[in-house]
Amino acid sequence: MKNLIRIILEGALTNFKRILFASERVTDMEMRSRILEGRVEPTDKVAEVSCIGCGGCSNACPTEAIEMQNLDEPIKLMEGLLKTQIPFLNSEKCVHCYYCHDFCPMYALFGDAGTIHPNDVGVVESDINQLMDKPFKISDDKIAFIAQFLADKSIIKKKKI
Ligand code: SF4
Ligand code: SF4
Repeated sequence: MKNLIRIILEGALTNFKRILFASERVTDMEMRSRILEGRVEPTDKVAEVSCIGCGGCSNACPTEAIEMQNLDEPIKLMEGLLKTQIPFLNSEKCVHCYYCHDFCPMYALFGDAGTIHPNDVGVVESDINQLMDKPFKISDDKIAFIAQFLADKSIIKKKKI
């Protein structure tokens, strides 16, 4: 019983400190104020420059909220690689599960994971040439996992993740 009371008191004290002194806060206070004052405008969720048009996000989305749309003019990303499509995200169908974000090899959707506001993409502009210059290793298992999303629509539904 003594232990329980101690835990309750410690928890209450910690929360008081968080509230009164903003200690241990992980929330960005500027962002918090902007949200409370209604100053956060929904921004684009797709960083179009970073996107390479692989289509995996669309296949990973459980609610079919992402539709790949053809570009008027294909964009040459690098030798032998053209970007022909970019995702269009339908906010009405999106449930903010972030499967698309977690899949995207370029972090081109929603920006950093766990942004406080689901409509805040944050700054994401990757340079594909710089990324391709970096040496990286990837296991055969990982390649097989990723390949499923690129090849198969609604893979998540089939796997019941
Ligand atoms: S967050 Fe989830 S529901 Fe929304 S577009 Fe991405 S995968 Fe689809
Ligand atoms: S997974 Fe990322 S790179 Fe691929 S189409 Fe979607 S946003 Fe673009």
